[in-house]
Amino acid sequence: MVFVLDRHKKPLMPCSPKRARLLLARGRAVVHRVKPFVIRLRDRRAQESVLQESALKIDPGSRTSGMTLVWGEATPQGEVHHALFLSEVQHRGEAVHRSKLTQRHARRRRRSANLRHRAPRFANRATPKGWLPPSLRSRLGNILAWTSRYGRWAPISRIEVEHVRFDTQLLEHPEISGVEYQYGELAGWEMRAYLLLKYAYRCAYCGKTDVPFEIDHIHPRSRGGSHRLSNLALACHGCNAAKGNQTAREFGHPEVQDSARRPLRDAAAVNATRLALVEALRRFGLPVGTWTGGRTRWNRARLGIEKTHTNDALCVGVMAGVRPGKLKTLRIKATGRGEHCRTNWTAAGFPRGYRMRWKQVRGFKTGDLVVAVVPAPLKTAGIQRGRVAVRASGSFRVGNVDGINARYCLLVQRADGYEYAWA
Ligand SMILES: [Zn+2]
Repeated sequence: MVFVLDRHKKPLMPCSPKRARLLLARGRAVVHRVKPFVIRLRDRRAQESVLQESALKIDPGSRTSGMTLVWGEATPQGEVHHALFLSEVQHRGEAVHRSKLTQRHARRRRRSANLRHRAPRFANRATPKGWLPPSLRSRLGNILAWTSRYGRWAPISRIEVEHVRFDTQLLEHPEISGVEYQYGELAGWEMRAYLLLKYAYRCAYCGKTDVPFEIDHIHPRSRGGSHRLSNLALACHGCNAAKGNQTAREFGHPEVQDSARRPLRDAAAVNATRLALVEALRRFGLPVGTWTGGRTRWNRARLGIEKTHTNDALCVGVMAGVRPGKLKTLRIKATGRGEHCRTNWTAAGFPRGYRMRWKQVRGFKTGDLVVAVVPAPLKTAGIQRGRVAVRASGSFRVGNVDGINARYCLLVQRADGYEYAWA
């Protein structure tokens, strides 16, 4: 789908690429942005248009977060969500960590080499409350940046976000952890999410991964063991069958028996970034719905939808059905905006070579999206599109082709810290 703005840059409902082409061809619209594609109508105002109830749904992941736009259709069964735009944001995570390490090494070398007279300053810093490491903050920043962008391009009326993997409230509720606990269908999924995390996606007995897991009663059901959460473990089919009606201790695994009583302590830490995200999303001033991962997985299984980042985002929240349509997914990869530091370092923090003092060469910066039209007699003749890598000499690399002169390049879009691809 193509994002549409009115003449005052207020968002309207997205339209199909075909309709966008027609609008552009008839001169009713102009191109506002290339990636993702946004057009602006010249003759329409938002107050003259009908806007549907639409929501931004977010599934925050450690490496990749799903972000989808949907509009809700009210049906007798409940709301059916139709996809308007599918995207996934790949975070920098590890790259941020690595560059921070380089920074630290350079600083340590600098301090110890030239500034021995300076009093040591390393133990006088306090981390403020709610501090997150830079790699996690970058993840948060990516999601917030794209929430704000989608807010500019589409008429979002609410945000739905998965804020915890499982609902600790639901699990600690006496009705649920008690012996007389009635299995609610959703509660089973919350419990499964909890157990998967507690046993780190491994069979508690043989340590097997990547197999379908069963829920094992540590003190067997047949001998009066309860459905209480502390009596449950994750087991592969083989171990569960072999254990039969023995306790975990009799089966030769006293450590599992002991682990049973220990609750998952770091549940709060697991959810720390996500809670910070919800807090930041609230500042957009839209209603924020918060849901659990257990519910997402339950929705996905119930509606028979395969697991991808965007589908996970589609299944966040309460709905009667999901219509993903035939939309492609926009893969948004966070690349950063280059480095401020103009020195190349060895791994040990010694300076080794210096870069250009400025980033811009003949109006281009590395990462800008360009189209290069090179005339025939030259070796690089043809049309090249892609990201440019600049050199002081004016001989650039565009996409995979090196040695293109700056004079043949035309700017399409400035680098904005992200790379785009359709999947
Ligand atoms: Zn096993």
